[in-house]
Amino acid sequence: MNNWLYFEYFIDNESKTYTYIISDTASKETCIIDPVLENVDKYVNQIKHIWWNLKYILDTHVHADHITGSSALKKRLWWIIGLWEKNQVLWADIFLKDNEKLRLWETDILTLSTPGHTKGCVSYIIDDMIFTWDLLFINGTGRTDFQWGSNEEMYSNITQRIFQFPGDYKIFPWHDYNGNLSSTVQKEKCNNQRIWNNKSIEEFSQIMDSLNLPYPKKIDIALPRNLKCGRE
Ligand code: FE
Repeated sequence: MNNWLYFEYFIDNESKTYTYIISDTASKETCIIDPVLENVDKYVNQIKHIWWNLKYILDTHVHADHITGSSALKKRLWWIIGLWEKNQVLWADIFLKDNEKLRLWETDILTLSTPGHTKGCVSYIIDDMIFTWDLLFINGTGRTDFQWGSNEEMYSNITQRIFQFPGDYKIFPWHDYNGNLSSTVQKEKCNNQRIWNNKSIEEFSQIMDSLNLPYPKKIDIALPRNLKCGRE
C-alpha cells in the first residue's frame, strides 16, 4: 500500500461485516466504504478525532443484511458528499459509472461494475486494494439467489475483471466468518474452492444453486431503507 494512505476497518458485531476507511495522510481526504447505521457514532468520533476530511461515502450495493449508515453520516458531517453507485436509489449525490475514477487527493478510487451478487454491485479499487464486498470472499463468494443475482455475471466478473489485477493486489471482502481480513488475487485464484482449478461456469452454478442459504433476516427492513440511502 502507498505510504501516504491510512487504512482502518470496523467490524459490525451483529452482521459480522467490515466497513473500511481510507485516508490520504497528507491532505486528510478520506472515504468510507459501506458504513453500517448502528456504528455511525464510532465513525464520526474517529473522523473528528483525527481531523479527517470525509469526502466520499461509498456504498457497494443495496444491502440486505443491514441498513446503510450513508445518510446518517451525511447528516452528521454535513459538508461531505453522499455517494452511491448506479442502483436506482434515492438521495444519492453522485451516480458512478463503470471505470469512473474519483480522486482522493493524489490517489484514484476506481469504480468497477461487478454485478452478480445483486444486479447493481460495484467493486472499488484504491491503490493495490480491491474492495469486493459480496462478490468475492476469502475462499468463497457472495450469494446470488435474490436481488437479481446471477451466477453467470458473478463468475465472469470474478474471473474476467477481479482476476485481471496483479496477483499481489489485496482483496478486502465484506464478510469473513473465519476472522480473516484480507486475501490476495493470487491466493483466491489458487485457493478459492468455488472457482479454483479453472472451474467452468456450469460447475460454479451447480455449487451456487445447491447452497440452500436461509432467507436474510433483515432484508424486509433493510431493502426499503437502503433504496433511500438508509433514510427512514
Ligand atoms: Fe449483500
